[in-house]
Amino acid sequence: MGYETTVVAGGGGFIGGHLAGALLERGIGPVRSVDIKPLDEWEQVFEKAENLQLDLRLKEACERACAGAREVYCLAADMGGMGFIENNKGLCMLSSLITTHMLQAAAAAGVERFFYSSSACVYNAEKQDSPDVTALREADAYPAMPEDGYGWEKLFSERMCRHFREDFGLETRIARFHNVYGPVGTWRGGREKAPAALCRKIAEATAFEGGSIEIWGDGTRTRSFTYIDDCIDGIERIMRSDVTEPLNLGSSELVTINGLADLIEDIAGVKLERVHLLDTPKGVWGRNSDNSLIRSLLDWEPSTPLRKGLESTYAWVREQVIAAAAGTPTRR
Ligand code: NAD
Repeated sequence: MGYETTVVAGGGGFIGGHLAGALLERGIGPVRSVDIKPLDEWEQVFEKAENLQLDLRLKEACERACAGAREVYCLAADMGGMGFIENNKGLCMLSSLITTHMLQAAAAAGVERFFYSSSACVYNAEKQDSPDVTALREADAYPAMPEDGYGWEKLFSERMCRHFREDFGLETRIARFHNVYGPVGTWRGGREKAPAALCRKIAEATAFEGGSIEIWGDGTRTRSFTYIDDCIDGIERIMRSDVTEPLNLGSSELVTINGLADLIEDIAGVKLERVHLLDTPKGVWGRNSDNSLIRSLLDWEPSTPLRKGLESTYAWVREQVIAAAAGTPTRR
């Protein structure tokens, strides 16, 4: 392969899988997808891509991943929903090895552009202490008091990108994702996030058990959720732009967790009893994306209505629930 290859690090994951698919569909040239998981555990595997199983915490693995690459999308990270990141802070912070070594390898390989997937978890916790939240502007990341573990790693890696651009001339672009959801992502196992977890619980209750669903917390915390298609569209817009500072990539449609469950129940055509588990990881009180900056710089923002995105997500998760119960292979 010549210097035309596009690398998707974390290509076996949820967003990386969708991104690799979109890049191949656009016919941009050779795509190399890299992930630590064995191929049969990838969310999506594309035959047209070069698919490599590598541990990108290791520098040599990053050199192999970046060899002959023109552009790199760095999405690989040890992460999950609140249940995972609150209980695995050390593992989350070890992802700094991935970003650091990928940046070093990309700079050494003469990569032209490097995308980094940061998170709304970089924002100062004090600005998120009420469900009635003021949407977060990019400047709200400082003074720094991000989510312990996972958020600190993201903030550190953002700064590494900035310094590699300033010091070594590697063009870096950064998006702060806000709760991305959609079909073909983790829906069980402990790393799933609220939309997939609630879709699963409601699908299971509807298909087999009836009765009640468990909700973490009292359900009054607020969030915005970004549909995967908007996320992929936004990644490309940010990657192709001249904007070097981190940009929010998130929906600004705020909803409570109870409201999210209401929407999914409505789509499923059920109304279930709720058991609120108060002694579970819950995260900050409220979080929303202020999209003024991305609107003003890129004349765009995520626009898929939550209900619309949940319809396809619920349909997909329900299929997995039914297939798993029947013993048919599912996406993990
Ligand atoms: P994901 O867990 O589905 O994908 C991440 C992938 O990285 C996984 O397939 C995992 O196996 C891989 N990985 C982990 N360690 C690795 C290693 N050492 N070497 C190679 N691959 C490794 O998660 P996702 O939702 O697709 O998230 C992608 C990126 O976006 C991550 O950096 C994540 O922190 C960021 N992000 C996601 C969200 C979200 O809501 N999904 C929100 C904010 C930020």
